[in-house]
Amino acid sequence: MFRSAQHDKGYRGRLAPSPTGYLHAGHALTFWRAQERCRERHGTLVLRVEDLDRARCRPEFREAIFEDLRWFGLDWTEGPVLQSERRPLYLEAWKKLRDRGLVYPCSCSRRDVLSAAGAPHAEDEEPHYPGTCRPARLTIPPAEDPAGMNWRFRVPAGEALQFFDQCAGRQRAVAGTDFGDFVIWRKDDVPAYQLAVVVDDGAMRITEVVRGADLLRSAFRQLLLYRALDLSAPDFCHLPLVTDSLGQRLAKRHDALSLRTLRAAGVTPNEVRERYL
Ligand code: GLU
Repeated sequence: MFRSAQHDKGYRGRLAPSPTGYLHAGHALTFWRAQERCRERHGTLVLRVEDLDRARCRPEFREAIFEDLRWFGLDWTEGPVLQSERRPLYLEAWKKLRDRGLVYPCSCSRRDVLSAAGAPHAEDEEPHYPGTCRPARLTIPPAEDPAGMNWRFRVPAGEALQFFDQCAGRQRAVAGTDFGDFVIWRKDDVPAYQLAVVVDDGAMRITEVVRGADLLRSAFRQLLLYRALDLSAPDFCHLPLVTDSLGQRLAKRHDALSLRTLRAAGVTPNEVRERYL
């Protein structure tokens, strides 16, 4: 069982949008809940912009997100902090994992992994890596820097993992069975989401991560990274994804339900919350 640190220094939450498009109602409602949980606990709320993916993130979306967050009534006490300005921290974490033999370079393409994985995988889940490039035993790779290769974290195969999610209840998974070795640094020299989120939530001393249930399974990978990096893990609260009256996830309806579109149509933030919360 993963235990979070006893967070007695006050609640610290965060909003972590990715500026790959306009903010949509689904995300805004999750952020709203995150803000409510933080306010109920008189906590601090950090705004962190997850803009590491240079190909998909754009500065104009970042500015638009700030404006839309404010329009929706979201307010933060620290930040904005941009992940794109924090590379040294991620690199330091990569080095630590390398020195412990917990990561290895992988030359498999996404297509290789997909065809080897065979069975379909849940949405938002990385395909199960069959371990093609995994060294037979712990090996410290000689690489000085991670550029040019995908780097995977060696999961403790067979270890039964569990944690208690503050919203979704008890969660269980078996490393190596429910998910395989996952990418922590990408071939295009970008730290992968799983690594960046752990390094940042650790460095920012976040005590509770509130986000959508699409990232529930990722929490297991992240808990393994907290442990491997000697960081204390936050609590997690994964909220059910907001759906419309037809049961379709709001997040999937980017254009129709961006806050911008709703605002232009004269919908108020209150109406958005009343309709979906
Ligand atoms: N930046 C991620 C997203 O927009 C959220 C990551 C997280 O909350 O851990 O989906």
